[in-house]
Amino acid sequence: MNAVLKDSPVATVDPRFTVCGSSFSLTDEQRELIDLAETLGRTRFSARAAEWDREATFPMANYDDMRQAGLLGLCVPKAQGGLGADITTYALVSATIGKFCGATALTFNMHACSSMWPGILSDALDMTAEQRAEHERHRQVHFRRIIDDGAIYAQPFSEGTAAAAGRAPFGTAATKVDGGWLINGKKIFASLAGSADYYGVLCTEDKEGRSVRDSLYLAVPKDAPGFQIVGDWDPLGMRGTVSRNLTFKDVWVPDEAQMMPRGVYFQAASRWPHMFMTLSPTYMGIAIAAYEFTVRYLRGEIEGMGPPVKRRMYPTKQITVAEMHILLEQTRALFLRAFGEARVDPPKDVRLRAYAAQYTIMENANRLCQLAIRTCGGQSMLKSLPLERLYRDSRCGSLMLPWTAELCLDRIGREALYEPGEGDD
Ligand SMILES: Cc1cc2nc3c(=O)[nH]c(=O)nc-3n(C[C@H](O)[C@H](O)[C@H](O)COP(=O)(O)OP(=O)(O)OC[C@H]3O[C@@H](n4cnc5c(N)ncnc54)[C@H](O)[C@@H]3O)c2cc1C
Repeated sequence: MNAVLKDSPVATVDPRFTVCGSSFSLTDEQRELIDLAETLGRTRFSARAAEWDREATFPMANYDDMRQAGLLGLCVPKAQGGLGADITTYALVSATIGKFCGATALTFNMHACSSMWPGILSDALDMTAEQRAEHERHRQVHFRRIIDDGAIYAQPFSEGTAAAAGRAPFGTAATKVDGGWLINGKKIFASLAGSADYYGVLCTEDKEGRSVRDSLYLAVPKDAPGFQIVGDWDPLGMRGTVSRNLTFKDVWVPDEAQMMPRGVYFQAASRWPHMFMTLSPTYMGIAIAAYEFTVRYLRGEIEGMGPPVKRRMYPTKQITVAEMHILLEQTRALFLRAFGEARVDPPKDVRLRAYAAQYTIMENANRLCQLAIRTCGGQSMLKSLPLERLYRDSRCGSLMLPWTAELCLDRIGREALYEPGEGDD
């Protein structure tokens, strides 16, 4: 395991492992990685979070720490020098980071998926022997950049159309040319804009009658001619993600830029549904942070607020904490179960549970923050404390495509009532 912080202070790790609970069965590697994320979060990310949020700037210092700790290679296979995390391990680490800095956890999702999708996810999908060999060559290029150069990857797929919901082909087009691809189009909400070294762009191969099956996943270097970052970034929450817009005008990338072979992204999206759940650990972390803040606040343990004032003796506070506790347990139970059963071609009940888990985590994170502010009271929403940031950050969770809260309801309702191919006439 190379995930060790060289200049780390003595670890002040919370032994309660609040993301999974003390009785959850962890491997030694998972335990070590959660410990590492907890230490970084507690000793570094927590104190910096307010500044990224206030200034709407990318948490680069956190990425420097994660790079040094080996975490940028979390989902890079061990054979390529990474930590070889599976999706559950990724979820546990990401949620742990999310307790301390939502913007770091959310952007880390985009970076980590850039090696998870070409890595373990692609390993489970069908490819011809030729495709598999070509993919192996291509992905080595990306893995080497992350492991050897500490490169950061973004993952822009949103375009403000039905494409990001998986209901239409991406408008951004890639035309095959000798030795590579020419990309033209536009992306919105590209987290890590201006801070990533590579942008893993979801686009569609430019050909007659193109469909969602023709999706491509191409890595564009930050300095590629014709690539531009445009627009402002001044949102309600998740301000440190710096999710500005991108434009591509005849941007050339070589063949090795292909992060998944032709047709494999579509196959993944159809057969590996949990790939779209990876944003939810960030919000699981936020939910835990809101609950923990509330308990400490009501116990009079929050520092920097003058002489401690306890509020825990009021029955209404106790009832709200109980309500929050139940919500948190329900959320955490679905989170752990859904990630634990992630796999290719899951049966229907597992697929529906993944939608239910995503919906529950995203909605309950915000609900927990609302309850936290209501019961802690006016002083708790001052910007000198983290709760109002948690509240704003949590609001964005259910807006994340392709599995927004609305679209999860849509999918559950439809798939519960109709078998594939079934109609009403
Ligand atoms: C902080 C933050 C960071 C982000 N980072 C990234 C990133 O790194 N990469 C990236 O690609 N995107 C990113 N996004 C974008 C995000 O995933 C969504 O694409 C974006 O929030 C959609 O905004 P919109 O107004 O275009 O939504 P719309 O597409 O207009 O959707 C609005 C709502 O309508 C519903 N809806 C959408 N399509 C359908 C449909 N076909 N049928 C029924 N209902 C539908 C959904 O519930 C959705 O919430 C980020 C967003 C935020 C807030």
